[in-house]
Amino acid sequence: MGDNITERRRLTRNRMYRLIYDAEIGISKQQIANEMECSMPTVHQNIAELLEANLIKQGEFQPSSGGRPAIGYVINSELKIAIGVSLSTRHIRFLAVDMKLREIASDKVSAEYESLEKSGKQIADKLEKFIDKSGIDRKKILGVGITIPAVIDNTKGVIVVSPTLNIKNASLDILTKHISYPVFVENDGTCAGAAEAFGSKESDFAYLFMEYGIGGAIYANGQLIKGQNGRSAEFGHICVHPGGLKCSCGKKGCLEAYCGALRYTKDLGITAEEFFAELENGNEDYKKLWNDVLNHLTIGINNIRMMFDSKVILGGFVSEYLEPYLPKLKAYLASKNTFEEDGSYISLGKFYKKGGMMGGASYFIKKYIEEI
Ligand SMILES: [Zn+2]
Repeated sequence: MGDNITERRRLTRNRMYRLIYDAEIGISKQQIANEMECSMPTVHQNIAELLEANLIKQGEFQPSSGGRPAIGYVINSELKIAIGVSLSTRHIRFLAVDMKLREIASDKVSAEYESLEKSGKQIADKLEKFIDKSGIDRKKILGVGITIPAVIDNTKGVIVVSPTLNIKNASLDILTKHISYPVFVENDGTCAGAAEAFGSKESDFAYLFMEYGIGGAIYANGQLIKGQNGRSAEFGHICVHPGGLKCSCGKKGCLEAYCGALRYTKDLGITAEEFFAELENGNEDYKKLWNDVLNHLTIGINNIRMMFDSKVILGGFVSEYLEPYLPKLKAYLASKNTFEEDGSYISLGKFYKKGGMMGGASYFIKKYIEEI
């Protein structure tokens, strides 16, 4: 009984914290009482506790209807820090964020991928350097979320497979054992989808993660759909061209083989920036190639839309270049779909190339907020 009351009280305090968290500007006690439909003494009591715990602080004065302006409350966004790390074949990237998932610091170091063991040591070593360089208070660190291009089974603590990093059935511990903070490892597309879901009002969406490889995440009723084997939303291996180009997975005609950025960057010996600059300059070969990419991309997106009837958010570093091509994408989508008159259900994600790291970091922020 006593435990139930304690838990009920905690849930009220938690709801109040979230309300303050979501308020764009400070929120007053009266506004909180109205929103939560609770008494002013309850608000006073919980605000006092949240202030005491340093979780919130007084913000600006809020105009109130008649009378003097009331004090608004905001969360103390500097209270805790979470770090996202992205491991790819050539680089290790770091990103530190505050409680509001706002960037505090980021860095990118060159590190040729050789083995999981070596990367584990490199990440731990360079992470400490990143923390020092950014002047981050170690006591504030909630945890480190590492994102890698791999299928991960967190219940078994195993990296199931990563064609990109040439890994099969390796223990996650090899990667994490040198890191002296709480650590979490997840697939890059899943992480980037989590960043998109964090604080979003959109409870149903499919997230298409577009980098050298292609992945994603599916959210339904605000929950990540993981699938039977943790492989849901492996959109890169949807077949968009039976018998077509060979994919890194060994099959033919996958979306990734046609639309993964490898095809128009590393395979041509250029960077994404160079490709899109040339494309804009009117390079005919690139135009033809890009049209083929867009055509196959819309087959993939149309299939996703047909399956889930939800919004489709495009993310990953490629999404940073997509804005000028959205009208064309939407027109292609409309022409392929039985039910849609336009392709307005697609949009660009919020975080571009930092999505994966944001998502890795968001895991710890979300958990911390849940436990307040
Ligand atoms: Zn494939």
